[in-house]
Amino acid sequence: MERLTEHTVSCPYCGEAIEVFIDPQDAGDQYIEDCQVCCRPITFNVISDSMGHLSVTVHDENDSY
Ligand SMILES: [Zn+2]
Repeated sequence: MERLTEHTVSCPYCGEAIEVFIDPQDAGDQYIEDCQVCCRPITFNVISDSMGHLSVTVHDENDSY
């Protein structure tokens, strides 16, 4: 069943906890959204593991990966 899942991540700049909603169809995608607290651009990477569980990692704009 595909539905949005809620994840909590920490802003790489200010450390504030941010709740994000991830669509299973977004797995493997990367997108940028501004932090609601410090307004700096956070890069979100949506990952799907071998069990099909989604997770989200965040990077600041200066990270190279
Ligand atoms: Zn922030």
